[in-house]
Amino acid sequence: MVQTRQLYYDGRSKAATSGHSFQSVNPANAQPIAEVLSASASDVDAAVKSAASAFPTWSKMPAIARSRILLKAVSILRERNEELAIQETQDTGKPISETSTVDVVTGADVLEFFANLVGGGGLNGETAQLREDAWVYTKKEPLGVCAGIGAWNYPIQIALWKSAPCLAAGNTMVYKPSEFTPLHAQSLAEIYSAAGVPPGVFNVVQGAGDVGAYLTSHPTVAKVSFTGQVSTGKKVASAAAGGMKYTTMELGGKSPILIMPDADVEQAVDGAMMANFFSTGQVCTNGTRVLVPKKMKAAFEKALLAKMDFIRAGDTLDMETNFGPLVSETHYQKVLGYIRHGIEVDGARLLAGGAERPAPVKNMDGGFWVRPTVFTDCTDQMKIVQEEIFGPVMTILTYDDIDEAISRANATPLGLAAGVFTKDLNLAHKVIAEMEAGITWVNTWGESPAEMSVGGWKQSGLGVENGRKGLEAWVRNKSTLVDMSGVVPTVFSKL
Ligand code: NDP
Repeated sequence: MVQTRQLYYDGRSKAATSGHSFQSVNPANAQPIAEVLSASASDVDAAVKSAASAFPTWSKMPAIARSRILLKAVSILRERNEELAIQETQDTGKPISETSTVDVVTGADVLEFFANLVGGGGLNGETAQLREDAWVYTKKEPLGVCAGIGAWNYPIQIALWKSAPCLAAGNTMVYKPSEFTPLHAQSLAEIYSAAGVPPGVFNVVQGAGDVGAYLTSHPTVAKVSFTGQVSTGKKVASAAAGGMKYTTMELGGKSPILIMPDADVEQAVDGAMMANFFSTGQVCTNGTRVLVPKKMKAAFEKALLAKMDFIRAGDTLDMETNFGPLVSETHYQKVLGYIRHGIEVDGARLLAGGAERPAPVKNMDGGFWVRPTVFTDCTDQMKIVQEEIFGPVMTILTYDDIDEAISRANATPLGLAAGVFTKDLNLAHKVIAEMEAGITWVNTWGESPAEMSVGGWKQSGLGVENGRKGLEAWVRNKSTLVDMSGVVPTVFSKL
């Protein structure tokens, strides 16, 4: 049965007044799973008002008390992992083998990290003794009402990566999920409420880009934390700049993996596959440009082709399935367009996959399934090498010397992630030091633990999420100079 989803503010589900609704579809079989009601401008106003009313009490609560409440939410998230993972699988098409081990889990880890951080004094400022009777102290103060706007690829994880530091720091949030994957938002709001988060601290508005744009420009909103495409991020950042709002921008990438001549081929292939086919390639940090030494190309391709057989498209609720469909019809058409362009216009050599429809998955007809695809003999100028495809499409490029590989890896306006595979630790550090990217890996790919601050360079974003630095994005500094000498230094004294 198709469920209905509304908005969430004042600590409960609220009816939307726009009169518009949209459907959430299971990408595995293209069947509708929910009818979601879009927020009108006045609904967004009401959610923001709710967040503004909750702010004074929540922000003044001792950090340790907020921490206790958020840790309760962590427990509930973990208790309900299976049920939430099934919902995410139906909403995103990602296999349950991923959603039950990564999406909810890594979201809960981040909430636990920030709850513990603020509970352990992470919001404390600094003091500096200036003179015997004068000193400076600083405070990290919350910003106020913050907006979170999420992408569709890691819905509940993104909602938690934004709301965890936001709420832990004492802010309140109005969150808008992607219209393609809206279901997690109300579940998370209910979990926060069940844990004891006061009404108005975490609120949800549903809808498309127009709802996000209205929320971004709302005069009461102090900060916008956005995850999505570079082109949308530029619009959101420009709108936020109009109100001088704080922003965090987590945007797209076209990240390089540099395989060094001494690398273990099997290990490099495992890394390249995780960097291209996990989540059906719908990961912002995908390492889609795989730079392989010319002399290793044949061995790399042979090992890769052997392992491509381990990609198992299937029933997304079967734990053995490790490859799902793309998220939506629109995205499916976009990815297929790139694959066709790679074959017909770029002239890259197709090593695996292609644009034909894959063999049907049992009970999952009509879904947005594509073949995991590998192009080789690619050149830097090809469109499939330059643009973010956000699907399971690997491009293999070869190089002669390492400096050349480094400069080609950096020759992109994006700078989200980069990685190197080598047995030589000195070389690993040398290559990583040269990489123009905010997230880098050595001999692995994709792990993003709560302790690791992540964010893009260049056009891939502004600021970071997670790690200790992640908290700084949700506070502003107040410095106070106290002088108890009894004398105010003044130039206006009698001569
Ligand atoms: P979009 O940019 O299309 O959308 C992101 C969110 O912004 C959605 O909720 C969307 O609403 C909303 N939105 C659209 N227009 C506006 C607007 N004018 N003002 C405010 N909000 C708006 O991204 P996708 O959802 O397609 O996500 C995929 C992209 O996200 C990829 O480029 C990927 O690299 C990036 N990404 C980056 C991550 C990172 O950490 N760096 C992590 C995950 C993804 P709606 O969709 O409902 O229309």
